[in-house]
Amino acid sequence: MSSPESTGCPNVQMPNRDTLKILQGQKALVTGANSGIGMGVALALGEAGADVVVNYRSKPEVAEQVVEKIKGFGSNALAIHADVSKEDEIQAMFAKMVETFGTIDILVANAGLQRDAPIDEMTLDQWNAVITVNLTGQFLCCREAIREFKRRGVRPEVSCAAGKIICMSSVHEIIPWSGHVNYAASKGGVMLMMKSIAQEVAPHRIRVNSICPGAIRTPINKAAWDTPEAYDKLMKVIPYKRIGEPEDIAHAAVWLASDHADYVTGTSIVVDGGMCLFPGFAENG
Ligand code: NAD
Repeated sequence: MSSPESTGCPNVQMPNRDTLKILQGQKALVTGANSGIGMGVALALGEAGADVVVNYRSKPEVAEQVVEKIKGFGSNALAIHADVSKEDEIQAMFAKMVETFGTIDILVANAGLQRDAPIDEMTLDQWNAVITVNLTGQFLCCREAIREFKRRGVRPEVSCAAGKIICMSSVHEIIPWSGHVNYAASKGGVMLMMKSIAQEVAPHRIRVNSICPGAIRTPINKAAWDTPEAYDKLMKVIPYKRIGEPEDIAHAAVWLASDHADYVTGTSIVVDGGMCLFPGFAENG
């Protein structure tokens, strides 16, 4: 079990597109969709029948590979460049999406980064970089999506809701994280931003939720899993004794975006192999 090669649960497959396309006809936008969790979510939404905008800030060639894979599922896809911290770029991206796909039904505000430092060494640039992308970037995307959801209203042929938003938060909206105060503050901010937006827009039949991943095998946290020593250390805080894979988050995202979750709003769904279960107390503290 204690190997960086350890995979997720191979028995769980995404629904086969020929038998179950629960997001058929819906239009989705995933930010930061050319890496890690965002890529996994974009592929899963496409496989479940949604047409997907693959947002990227760098590496356009990888974004195009994601687009081609989604098209292989029979869904449409389009790569759009935008830095989520720039208001004009976000607005241009949404305008391009509406022009191309007609509207938006699902937003996954996923793009994020870390700039780690001890608090007494953290620069204002490090603080601002994380808050601007992880929190302000999600605010800007949520606002633009809600403007379109409210303008258009429910499309009963594709969903009971006028729109669905999934904010990519983290277990660090719950667990304090020494050496990462900017990141933990950004995710704590996402939690109350998400809940406040959810409260405000529920009467418009717009659902807003978060996913809180634990440790997922992506480039953002490579140092935590890419050697046997690091992996063994990581397992001390994961009761389920495996690292998460982007697919573990993608399964939750497809469900949250679908009408199967139609009565779910304002909730943080923790997907963490038990990391939030205070593993330090597992043997009586
Ligand atoms: P990643 O580094 O693989 O992907 C991050 C993505 O965000 C990349 O595509 C990157 O280009 C994009 N991005 C960064 N800044 C951007 C900007 N200004 N504009 C547009 N795109 C930008 O990391 P990941 O693990 O896939 O992270 C995705 C999300 O999941 C983040 O919000 C992260 O905080 C969250 N998360 C990850 C983990 C984990 O263990 N991997 C755990 C909890 C939460």
